[in-house]
Amino acid sequence: MQIILDELGRLETDAVRQITTAGTLDILEELRVQVLGKKGRLTAILRGLKDLTPDQKRDIGGRANQLKSKLEELIVSRRDELMGAASGPGLIDVTLPGRPLHHGHRHLVTLVMDQIVNIFQRMGFEIADGPDIETDYYNFSALNFPPDHPARDEQDTFYVEGDRLLRTHTSGVQVREFEKRKPPVKIIAPGLVFRNEAVNARAHCVFHQVEGFFVDTNVTFSDLKGVLEAFVYEFFGSGVAMRYRPSFFPFTEPSAEVDIRCFFCGGKGCPICKNEGWLEILGSGMIDPAVLKNVGYDSERVSGYAFGMGVERPAMLRYQVNDIRLLFENDIRFIRQFR
Ligand SMILES: [Zn+2]
Repeated sequence: MQIILDELGRLETDAVRQITTAGTLDILEELRVQVLGKKGRLTAILRGLKDLTPDQKRDIGGRANQLKSKLEELIVSRRDELMGAASGPGLIDVTLPGRPLHHGHRHLVTLVMDQIVNIFQRMGFEIADGPDIETDYYNFSALNFPPDHPARDEQDTFYVEGDRLLRTHTSGVQVREFEKRKPPVKIIAPGLVFRNEAVNARAHCVFHQVEGFFVDTNVTFSDLKGVLEAFVYEFFGSGVAMRYRPSFFPFTEPSAEVDIRCFFCGGKGCPICKNEGWLEILGSGMIDPAVLKNVGYDSERVSGYAFGMGVERPAMLRYQVNDIRLLFENDIRFIRQFR
């Protein structure tokens, strides 16, 4: 008699634990058969009652039936839990294979802009930012653009309202930073710029620029050349030939454009360099003293240089992209090639 009672006790402990932790409906059904089925543990125990006295049979039979009801109730409530989880929002089936995560990456333009900025940061330039919507003062007047300069023409500039406009270069950041700081000021300013131009394979009305400038005592054109050569060799490779060409910008004097020898044809001439053998990559010069005076600097005591370059053009040269529009269309098949 005691042996049978012990067995019922063990069965209860095991079955309650297994039923309440059953992870799926299939496992639960299997447990039900193992415990309550015709060949189950409870049935087997009850079969052993035949050797007992009628009183003992009644006693143990009563306990066995109580246990049976208890386990049946537990099974029903566990089944409800499992089915509720299966139809509810919190379903996690840890046996399913995982979904692959989509790995994003930087756009080619951002990638190249970061490369350019990083090279100058290592030369001690700080990053500064300015608004995309500028005033005429910061975009033109403070930078020594005369009132009748053609760049102010609506053909080239998107005017917003009043004297507000979409900046045509990031050079306005120069003036904003000069107003905030005293020399030495050594800044790199990356950002979006806008020009009212027809969109074609070589030109877009929106593009990115990186502008750099340095103002301190005794800053010379040699300092500018040193910084630009360090950049060109780092970005395009140390073997590349470069040259300075005299140029004109309202806010620098003297001004020079920088070309590198076409690395597609080695200088012999090809469609990419328009048969000139050289590729123009940036504009530069010594900051005009009038700009320094506009921001209250003593132009007798301090001097500075500035340079600016597009981002899309070097990106296209370096990664052999033949149409600037590809950089803005966001065709995922194109973008995924540059990680
Ligand atoms: Zn060429």
